[in-house]
Amino acid sequence: MDGINTLQEAIIYFADYDNCHKLMMQLRWPDGKVQCPRCGADKVTYLAKNRVWKCYARHEKPTFSLKTGTIFEDSPLGLDKWLPALWLVVNCKNGISSCELGRDLGVTQKTAWFMAHRLRFALTDGGFNLLSGEVEADETFIGGKARNMHVSERQRRITGTGGKDKTIVFGALERGGRVRATVVPSRKKQALQTEVKKHVEAGAALYTDALLSYEGLASDYAHQVIDHAIKYADGKVHTNGLENFWSLLKRGISGTYVSVEPFHLFRYLDEQSFRYNNRATKDNPLNDSDRFVLALSQITGKRLTYQRLTGKDLRPEPLMN
Ligand SMILES: [Zn+2]
Repeated sequence: MDGINTLQEAIIYFADYDNCHKLMMQLRWPDGKVQCPRCGADKVTYLAKNRVWKCYARHEKPTFSLKTGTIFEDSPLGLDKWLPALWLVVNCKNGISSCELGRDLGVTQKTAWFMAHRLRFALTDGGFNLLSGEVEADETFIGGKARNMHVSERQRRITGTGGKDKTIVFGALERGGRVRATVVPSRKKQALQTEVKKHVEAGAALYTDALLSYEGLASDYAHQVIDHAIKYADGKVHTNGLENFWSLLKRGISGTYVSVEPFHLFRYLDEQSFRYNNRATKDNPLNDSDRFVLALSQITGKRLTYQRLTGKDLRPEPLMN
């Protein structure tokens, strides 16, 4: 992937199947020992003409490809479409619409929509590690059905502060670390505290606003409250990190996506969270190519860490799920 820094370069690079092959091999079987994804056997033969391996163990579907066992498996689209699509999804700061994606890849909008959704699904943070240290928790409203709505009306609904047609999103952000965002059924105590406990390690410093639903968390967390009716920050006690994330999220939704049905919202949350969690920072100067390889490692089930990536050691972390 050296020398591939822009979308245009990525599209040209992946138009050559050998380059797709090389990268997928590096991620899936970095030692070059190909194993059957169905049974784990290493007695396999590569049939170059069909770009598949044949497994000699007796089971159904004895051949497999580079796509087998990944989210690309049952799709007729080639890696030459999937890999640039992934590049686009993870590197467009405010997200990308299926129209743009379709145009860039030369596929129909419907196909692009399907691809983007599948990629977002693959980018879901497994949530293996709880957030710890200093953690902000907050919730926000996202406008529901924005389709067939005048722009100003859509804007009002998406950035407004409440209403019955809105979807409620809960977020937790570890300062200097990761964010998690998820759709919740209500802002009631049980709904929000369940999410806090699901994502935040007991004993962490927890910062929230004065919403009563967060009351009672002090038994598990060093919980401090900022009352937004009075001020927005009191030293470390604020939720500004999440405010920043919400504004990125809303900008993406109102600016890029014509409509986000509540049912699909969680996918957009995952996509925006992935970009946020893999953004370039001073300690973590990721470029588009790095972000793409990290995402691809997640998709192929061989999760790389940034340290591994930048050490140019492409051996994955041990599987955690
Ligand atoms: Zn097999």
